[in-house]
Amino acid sequence: MAELEGLEFGKSDFVLLDEVTMEQFMENLKLRFEKGRIYTFIGEVVVSVNPYRQMDIYGKDTIDAYRGRELYENPPHLYAVSDAAYKAMKRRAKDTCIVISGESGAGKTEASKYIMQYIAAITNPGQRAEVESVKNVLLKSNCVLEAFGNAKTNRNDNSSRFGKYMDINFNFNGDPTGGHINNYLLEKSRVVHQQEGERNFHSFYQLLRGGSEEMLNSFHLENDPAAYVYTREGAESTTTNNDRSSHKAVMSALEVIGFSKEEISSIYHILASILLLGNMQFESDGESVQIVGLEAVNHISELTGTDPDSVTKSLLYRTVATGGGEVIEKGHSEEEACFGRDAFAKALYERLFGWIVGRINSVIEVKNYNPVLHGKNTVIGVLDIYGFEIFDNNSFEQFCINYCNEKLQQLFIELILQQEQGEYEREGITWQHIDYFNNQIIVDLVEQPHKGIISILDEACLTVGKVTDTVCLDSMDTKLAQHPHYTSRKLSPTDKTMDFQKHFRIRHYAGDVTYSVEGFLDKNKDLLFQDFKRLMYNSSNSVLKEMWPDGQLSITEVTKRPLTAATLFKNSIVALVDKLACKEPYYVRCIKPNEMKSPVLFDDARCQHQVAYLGLLENVMVRRAGFAYRQPYARFLQRYKMTCEYTWPNHLMSSDRDAVEAIVTQHGFQDDVAYGHTKLFVRTPRSLFTLEQERAAL
Ligand code: ATP
Ligand code: MG
Repeated sequence: MAELEGLEFGKSDFVLLDEVTMEQFMENLKLRFEKGRIYTFIGEVVVSVNPYRQMDIYGKDTIDAYRGRELYENPPHLYAVSDAAYKAMKRRAKDTCIVISGESGAGKTEASKYIMQYIAAITNPGQRAEVESVKNVLLKSNCVLEAFGNAKTNRNDNSSRFGKYMDINFNFNGDPTGGHINNYLLEKSRVVHQQEGERNFHSFYQLLRGGSEEMLNSFHLENDPAAYVYTREGAESTTTNNDRSSHKAVMSALEVIGFSKEEISSIYHILASILLLGNMQFESDGESVQIVGLEAVNHISELTGTDPDSVTKSLLYRTVATGGGEVIEKGHSEEEACFGRDAFAKALYERLFGWIVGRINSVIEVKNYNPVLHGKNTVIGVLDIYGFEIFDNNSFEQFCINYCNEKLQQLFIELILQQEQGEYEREGITWQHIDYFNNQIIVDLVEQPHKGIISILDEACLTVGKVTDTVCLDSMDTKLAQHPHYTSRKLSPTDKTMDFQKHFRIRHYAGDVTYSVEGFLDKNKDLLFQDFKRLMYNSSNSVLKEMWPDGQLSITEVTKRPLTAATLFKNSIVALVDKLACKEPYYVRCIKPNEMKSPVLFDDARCQHQVAYLGLLENVMVRRAGFAYRQPYARFLQRYKMTCEYTWPNHLMSSDRDAVEAIVTQHGFQDDVAYGHTKLFVRTPRSLFTLEQERAAL
């Protein structure tokens, strides 16, 4: 068991608390944080508190201490779950996954990197070159994905603005053979607009500050983020990582991964085009709209391999098919032109990001794997995805992110129970079912066909004519009036916090969130004029062209409405949950100790809130309602045989099971245990605690 550190550091497993109360939970969490013990178990779940300082606990010695050991043999650590997931994969040929959750800045991405480093460190002892190369690409991919997918926000200097699920494939030797990355909902609105004090994606600043003079000149760029509308807001703020040196690291990572020179150059051409697009202005003389300054058009056309007239045209006009099948060009209003420009910039970035992920995947995908020759190909998945978000102003993005968290919570409930029940069944133990809040009802509120919020949104987006966000809200109010987890200002007129005109509220499992419906329909439609797609498809730059296959359709061929953003997101999350559900899950629950990024401050209220919505107390209860501890008989004997005269130094009984029974009986906790086929199950931690104390006193 994990009580190896001495009690002055608190209980290393929350299951050992005298009583499962929020008070005791928080007291223990705080004590451990203050003593520099950032990890604590709940059974096999690791609870992690962001230390906000470098800890000397990730070195080679620590890796060696955890390698191949059982979970309870060492103090709690990410390496303990990593090893457990790895062992299950290797010994039992199980696909496993490690789900890392927690709010922004809680330490998910750092945890995922330590987990990957651990797996890299313990595999391929023979140093085979092809395996080393796979490991290298997997590790380097983090650097690239962070450059393009992370940004400085007010909550985290290096905040992941996309969800990431990475499968690592292993051969029968337990060595990595490849992998696959899935990315989820990149926050592309950040490309054109950031909150006060926040930055655009790191990649832009890295290019502007780290790109060579020659490169920037050829891109018609200045080396100053303040010169560009899209990077101006974050121009003054710095991050812990230096943009200039990061630029070098990213360039070199791209090369190591296997991006060609042409591909790398295309990536930066696209970034430059986006920056120039952002500075583009329009003016109207009352009749038609013009672009201010044609130089920018020439530069953009040069960077994107398109001709200047086509660039101008796609920015100022859109081609539409009339009801009669006629194709006409319709001039934009100034407002439409600005909307089109920003939508284009966002789409360019989103497709670039998706293409980069796809390109990494093409390098790491498992090739030439023959299951007959090579045995079963097993997988460890690592999920680093945005946690629950409650801001002052919550929009479409928060709605999607929080829906995703409902789905993951649902999975957590199912899997944790499933796992417990499975083990009891295998071992022939009867156990009592425990009930707790099932959030399926909230999942349904969002995703149910025809009735759920996503369906109502989609319906509003499909309706021809001027359906506004507020009209859509009215429709939601009517259809969801009876739902216990939905309210709005109309349904709750006396609620002072709901006196806004454009808000609705969902009672999430993690708390109430009030969403502003403003912009929901636009974001859900995610409209990009076909003219831009065609422009990019006709680019002479083959990399760019590859990103826009849908540009080959002519306007009359584009009949089918594309799926909406919410539906696409829902589909991707449903697929993710399916993927996770068939794997043996391991959990890392991350907690952010304070808002100041301080290594010493433990903000009680904020931490308690996170503990509550991560459902950690329920987790402890479930764990305790069953059997808190289980140990193979031989291991139990090895650890405690000195506490009983019949087993020390060796027992003479017919089986280890009988010898274990002798120890249990001698210490008087026979009513607190059950005997499985291969393991002893102990209901309350107290029993083992007594044994531990006795052992220590000897
Ligand atoms: P987001 O949801 O915004 O992406 P996150 O949960 O991924 O947030 P991280 O980026 O992993 O958060 O962590 C935020 C910062 O906290 C890191 O940049 C680092 O400074 C610090 N940090 C997190 N974990 C550790 C750790 N184990 N040791 C030292 N510092 C850490
Ligand atoms: Mg992150």
